[in-house]
Amino acid sequence: MPNSNLPFAQRLDNVETSAIRELFKLLGKPGIISFAGGFPDSAMFDVTGIAAAANKALTEEPGSALQYGATEGYEPLRKQLAAFMAQKGVQNVAPEQLIVTTGSQQALDLIGKTLIDPGSKVIVEGPTFLATIQCFRLYGADLVSAPIDADGVQVDELEELIKQHKPKFIYLIPTFGNPSGGLLSLERRKRVLELAVKYQTLVVEDDPYGDLYFNAAPPPSLLALSHEVPGSRDWLVHCGSLSKVLSPGLRVGWMVAPAELLARAVMCKQFSDAHTSTFAQATAAQYLAGGHMPATLARVRKVYGARAKTMCDALRSELGDAIDFVTPQGGLFVWARLTGANGKTKDGATFARQAIEKGVAFVPGAPFYCANPDLSTLRLSFATADEDRIREGVGRLAQAL
Ligand code: PMP
Repeated sequence: MPNSNLPFAQRLDNVETSAIRELFKLLGKPGIISFAGGFPDSAMFDVTGIAAAANKALTEEPGSALQYGATEGYEPLRKQLAAFMAQKGVQNVAPEQLIVTTGSQQALDLIGKTLIDPGSKVIVEGPTFLATIQCFRLYGADLVSAPIDADGVQVDELEELIKQHKPKFIYLIPTFGNPSGGLLSLERRKRVLELAVKYQTLVVEDDPYGDLYFNAAPPPSLLALSHEVPGSRDWLVHCGSLSKVLSPGLRVGWMVAPAELLARAVMCKQFSDAHTSTFAQATAAQYLAGGHMPATLARVRKVYGARAKTMCDALRSELGDAIDFVTPQGGLFVWARLTGANGKTKDGATFARQAIEKGVAFVPGAPFYCANPDLSTLRLSFATADEDRIREGVGRLAQAL
């Protein structure tokens, strides 16, 4: 910010305001169909169930739900979250081994705060979650990009990068990543855990999308698999979130980490927000305890699965060989590449501008890379438009191209 006379900290020099933010300003234009956001569909929110849970929290436990609480998190919610993970094959995570965070975004911030010094090497996937890139850079991280393919991060390459850079940690989104929508294969998940032990390197598993699968369940999380790889739990951090499946506005996430790291994260959180909203935590705890989650998950999986299929079918029929993508098996995103076939543009940012002109928005892929961006990539979210709007929007993409 060259014109400012205000005494900003140098750490801000490492972070640019997001290129995507500029694009989001255009989304207010009337009639735009947006495939740009990373939001779940607000029509999916179980308003009745959440209202009942909030009401129960206020009538049964007002002294907790409206009072200051423990930084680690509200005890009944920690118990519910441990049980929620246990249903997904996570063995031996006791409530004391997780802390509640204000969204998983805060867990990422706490990881940055506790582990990153200026110049610290951190390996992330190329591409990865944009807010992670920015958050870690704010702490001065020197990010190293590990390539991915259809089976997720390339583990042989990852091992080479670990040897070369001796990173503070590795950050992965193994399940339906943002933006890649991809899945790390079971075999590679085990290799990642073995690498963590072999090189005594922390692995951060960010897992806000793991419950959003459409047909078959994905391979177990790294956390669930960790009991198969002796010693790996000592090197594993797992971040979970209720945002994508229940409501991002609740701001309820959690983090499982080795005890020492968790203790330091709690110390940092104390000076940041003291604790996650007790009202939100008590509401989430009541919601989980009431047994509403399985039905909610079944509903969102069905709706997003149908939307994903509609988008992929429409992309194939309308854009043909001008675009290349893997059909996602879960999550919120189609990650696609412009092929340049028949002389059409191969540049995602150019195409995004052309698309806005035609009344449809998506996010070009380049900002999701910390280095060597693939300029031909795009992220299309199928979460918020219904199936008719998705078909209409893809038709507009075809016109724009
Ligand atoms: N990680 C990833 C990969 C995400 O896509 C998001 C949300 N877009 C988050 C973390 C943060 O989610 P929240 O803070 O709402 O839990």
